[in-house]
Amino acid sequence: MTPAPAGPVPARHRSLRVVPPREGVNLPAVERAVADLLVALGKDPTSEHLSDTPRRVARSFVELLTPREFDLTTFPNDEGYDELVLAKSIPVQSLCEHHLLPFHGITHVGYLPGERILGLSKLARVVELFARDLQTQERLTQQVADALQEHLAPQGVGVVIEAEHSCMSLRGVRATGSRTVTSALHGLLRADARSRQEFFALTGIR
Ligand code: ZN
Repeated sequence: MTPAPAGPVPARHRSLRVVPPREGVNLPAVERAVADLLVALGKDPTSEHLSDTPRRVARSFVELLTPREFDLTTFPNDEGYDELVLAKSIPVQSLCEHHLLPFHGITHVGYLPGERILGLSKLARVVELFARDLQTQERLTQQVADALQEHLAPQGVGVVIEAEHSCMSLRGVRATGSRTVTSALHGLLRADARSRQEFFALTGIR
């Protein structure tokens, strides 16, 4: 006779609720600040054309700076898949913390699975989680790589972001079309030259 299982069968997937790692935006305070900014720019915030601008700008900032909560669901790597998993060209948009101007582009996120694998759509959600903040591209790249290393514990992680910064293309040097490339690597993708080369070859970065 087979003994009955000693308790509930554990779930195959594991879920971790990921919440924004910071305070939300104070909407009324942003509205007041935008009205003040309009005055400082020599504009009349009570004019017919601008009267609704503080509210609109404040709501834009809320949207740009508030990531959505999500569940980071992982599954056991039953088949022992040990080759690179790469999600290419995930759109990314964020706000440069030096100029409060947007930068946007694409992210390539890859990992070498360990004991668990991840729902692919979650890679894009991790990018969004950190992108909806005042950022530098360097920090954003690192944060995405660190979060995947921490929560997924893969054998390796690689993140590449290619982005165009409005603060470079619209003002200053006006380098329209110039893209900035950043990368962050952990584990085998950092330590093993062949894995690293394969990752950069598949992302199209040389
Ligand atoms: Zn900037």
